[in-house]
Amino acid sequence: MAQTSTPDARLDRLRGPVAPRRHNARTIAALTGNPGCTRRAVLDGAGVDKMKVAEHIGFPGRFGQSSFAIVRGNVFEARLKANEGAALVGLLGVDVPKYLDLSGGPKASNEERYSRTLEALRDNPDTLLDHPMLRLEVAGRRVYLEPDLVAFQLDNRYHVVEIKSFPVIDEQADPGKVSAAATQAAVYVLALREALAEAGRDPETVSHHVLLVCPKDFSNQPVSSMIDVRRQLSVLRRQLSRMARIDQLLDTLPDGLTFDLEAGDDGEPARDPEALTADIEAVPARYAPDCLATCELSFFCRAEARTSTAVLGRSVREELGGIEDVQTVLALAHGTIEPTPDQAEAAVLLQAAYRLRAELVP
Ligand code: SF4
Repeated sequence: MAQTSTPDARLDRLRGPVAPRRHNARTIAALTGNPGCTRRAVLDGAGVDKMKVAEHIGFPGRFGQSSFAIVRGNVFEARLKANEGAALVGLLGVDVPKYLDLSGGPKASNEERYSRTLEALRDNPDTLLDHPMLRLEVAGRRVYLEPDLVAFQLDNRYHVVEIKSFPVIDEQADPGKVSAAATQAAVYVLALREALAEAGRDPETVSHHVLLVCPKDFSNQPVSSMIDVRRQLSVLRRQLSRMARIDQLLDTLPDGLTFDLEAGDDGEPARDPEALTADIEAVPARYAPDCLATCELSFFCRAEARTSTAVLGRSVREELGGIEDVQTVLALAHGTIEPTPDQAEAAVLLQAAYRLRAELVP
């Protein structure tokens, strides 16, 4: 790809003349969960609608929340934030003197909202902050985060409040959903620390304990608990530092690539699905079974990787020490090919496993 334009201009060209999708804590958490995947980094960096891409190339998937869950979540959040966060403050049992809505109106730019947030952090420490705008550097590119969270100060520390719509039933919530919420909250903690540093305040005043608020037993009654996101923070920092810069990734892509989803007369993307598939395939992916829970393109990438050891999971792939395809693994196990020096150790283990299996499964 030509290197004369800025990374932003190159990403805009890749996306084509459609509005970009905004990064959020979920996409950053998923991106850092698979930092070696160039395909995801480029498509997310360009703000491409991956769900629509998957549908157009014939691999639609059920992904994200149902519209029912989204409506339910919005109602729950609105109730908590109504009357300057009265229900939330009551739940916390603390006295928060002020409430500030930082949404700034429909015409406010990201940068204006970010400036308002910095001002609020500088000048209004004891305030419930609603709709703050944060930002984070991801793969060398500034990403704005519009969390549906409230940050407030308690015991002289800021706490991120994460409002989720999944229920807590008999004091138990789905562990997978709690874990995903913790990772997303860690993204906000990191971004809030960076904002505080920029506002000239101590970033460590942002606590690693975040407040998770969920509905109790399918009702709209809120219930809260503090969760410690220190582990998620250290994973996130490590993964963000491992991610290649987007401009370096763009330099590896062929010229003329586009993921343009501009609609034709029928309202559907006009692009030929086969041409779009070819362009998606031109960007290297790093499929792992975890992708099924975190990426809209997972059905496509799984089908593409079906003959690769990647579909067996990261631990198997690592155990096989760089043997990339399943046919080679089987041939080594059966002893029908001679292992290369690099494959010798894995071949001994595979043959032993094959003999054991033959003894146990007649
Ligand atoms: S599903 Fe595909 S594009 Fe998405 S992270 Fe996995 S390998 Fe990358």
